[in-house]
Amino acid sequence: MSKLFKRTKILATIGPAVFSEQKIEELIMAGVNGCRLNFSHGDYTERDQQITWIRQAAAKKGRSVAILQDLQGPKIRLGDIKNNHLDVHAGDELILDNAIKEHDGGNVLPVQYNLAKKVKVGEPLSMFDGKIKSTVSEIVSNTAIKIKVENDGFVMSHKGLNLPDTDFGGDIITEKDMADIEFGASRDFDYVALSFVQSAKDIEKLRQILLSHGSTAHIIAKIETKKAIESDEAMEAIVKATDGIMVARGDMAVEAGAEVVPIVQRKLIAMCREHGKLCIVATQMMSSMVDNPEPTRAEVSDVANAVIQGADAVMLSDETANGKYPVETVKAMKKVILYTQNNSHVSPINHDVTGDYKNYDAIAGGVVSLAEKIDADVILCQTASGATASAIAAQRPKLPIVTVTSNPRVAGQLALTYANSAFVRPYSENYGLELAQELKENGYLQIREGKKDILAVIISGHKDMAGGTDTIHIVRV
Ligand code: PEP
Repeated sequence: MSKLFKRTKILATIGPAVFSEQKIEELIMAGVNGCRLNFSHGDYTERDQQITWIRQAAAKKGRSVAILQDLQGPKIRLGDIKNNHLDVHAGDELILDNAIKEHDGGNVLPVQYNLAKKVKVGEPLSMFDGKIKSTVSEIVSNTAIKIKVENDGFVMSHKGLNLPDTDFGGDIITEKDMADIEFGASRDFDYVALSFVQSAKDIEKLRQILLSHGSTAHIIAKIETKKAIESDEAMEAIVKATDGIMVARGDMAVEAGAEVVPIVQRKLIAMCREHGKLCIVATQMMSSMVDNPEPTRAEVSDVANAVIQGADAVMLSDETANGKYPVETVKAMKKVILYTQNNSHVSPINHDVTGDYKNYDAIAGGVVSLAEKIDADVILCQTASGATASAIAAQRPKLPIVTVTSNPRVAGQLALTYANSAFVRPYSENYGLELAQELKENGYLQIREGKKDILAVIISGHKDMAGGTDTIHIVRV
């Protein structure tokens, strides 16, 4: 298994380019471990269709595939622009009005949020992924603001706005998000990603809302605002509060400047590893493949760097959602991941710095060092909550981690975790060993050349209970 076994996972955004069960199955077979549903677009009927396809395709192939719901958050967008195009020039004054629905071709544009209540004169406002820069020059009415444009260009319908210096008062979860969270809870998603997180409080609020709907989905904090990255302490507080983060490089570059992205990415991956949290690197990883069958050298290097830094997962957006070559992009990404992991090592981090070790953290450290010293083939983890499997993954072992759990939710959540292949089986005290035998018989685990058997290190608890991990076995299968 080792040469073709990919430690860094692939999360693919599902959209019009892969709108069939067949296409989603092809993505999974090409190497996709998780599917992202972007709630900025599409309706619930479409979502239900996609959820059914993902779950059917995953079951057919015997794989655990995570489903991640990406909430729109306070992403402010323009309304409909006449003929879907308006040229703007440096010095133009435009009015953005939340009270109008139609654009008549003039300088008053509809906007889907009442900015008049939040912005201050002098604050920067950019549109269309930062392509048009402007400054707020006047609060015109209770629903409208005036902006002065700083460069030539054009805008289109529904393009996003960024207001990096505006204080939205902490209420980043919108009414649309609330409805989407309720929908997501009823569809049992594995992950919910929260956009434009500013502080740990946003995560705590989402956790309460999820619990009120009976959802145990893991939370992914999208790191993309100036406030979230204003200091290492601010970033770390969010990492500690959340289950995982996404380095949302698209909006981060617009909000804080593209030059901050590589350093923030490196720091966030290290913090996530230190605290045993999931880390996804997102946006423009292979964006030239939206139109071309091959990635650029810079894109290959970008994916390789995320692998070397030890990200759990790398994400594709438009490449798989709207691109011409969705399956080819996943194959190209997998090739880069495999080559990089087999010809480099993940940069080490110090695991002794958190000071709040739980027993599974300590066991994880011991297990990885033991397995590497005895040259084991696989670490096999029996887990109830997934915590032990995540703690082992945080050590970034070179060995594959095969996880067995009786809980399908835990398997879905581990699908995006570094080096983890999760299987759902009914609990029994020896279900780790039984799975190892099954995987040997079906060829998933293979005996290495020159060896007689598969050497497995099995970590288990004596009951199917969260926090019960207490036993390490070395077995030959
Ligand atoms: C990003 O901004 O990089 C991102 C992942 O968020 P979205 O695609 O929702 O804008």
